[in-house]
Amino acid sequence: MRLVLLGPPGAGKGTQAVLLSEKLGVPHISTGDLFRANIGEGTPLGVEAKSYIDAGKLVPTDVTARMVKSRLEEADAAEGFLLDGFPRTVEQAEILQDLLAENGQNLDGVLNFVVAEDVVVERMLARGRADDNEETIRTRLGVYRDETAPLIEHYGDQIISIEAEGEVEEINDRAMAALGK
Ligand code: AMP
Repeated sequence: MRLVLLGPPGAGKGTQAVLLSEKLGVPHISTGDLFRANIGEGTPLGVEAKSYIDAGKLVPTDVTARMVKSRLEEADAAEGFLLDGFPRTVEQAEILQDLLAENGQNLDGVLNFVVAEDVVVERMLARGRADDNEETIRTRLGVYRDETAPLIEHYGDQIISIEAEGEVEEINDRAMAALGK
């Protein structure tokens, strides 16, 4: 299964992706995790991405798309994946579409995790990640509204909406049911 996970920062996509990845038997590919791993290892990609991430801004698309392309080329992603955090803009969605089309592939669906804004702010403050301070959270929510939310319309009837407030297991059951599993 080839799925994209959408939703505001703090919607719990990462947590859900870990569970879904296990149940569906496809890798969880998180661009945020890939960037953080590169930052941890001090790679040139990590050095380039860090200032954007610390400010809550999007890393430039060419850098991000190159990273995603090489991750999707790894053997474990051949039969499917859960993309978490990519695409984040309509431009990135078009790049993904082209990457898949080159291999005669298509997305099977786009899970949209729907959560109220006050809930996501609370979750992010509780998480305590380096980029989870109030100012950065505000920036990231603004980026989400301006650049990422338009993907919901872009994907149209490929969107599968999941009500994502409540217990982790309950939300996961909803997602699996929505996927017909
Ligand atoms: P996340 O873990 O998904 O919340 O991502 C953390 C940060 O990584 C974001 O605030 C961005 O700075 C950067 N990032 C993750 N995915 C992307 C993407 N698709 N395009 C640009 N920047 C990204």
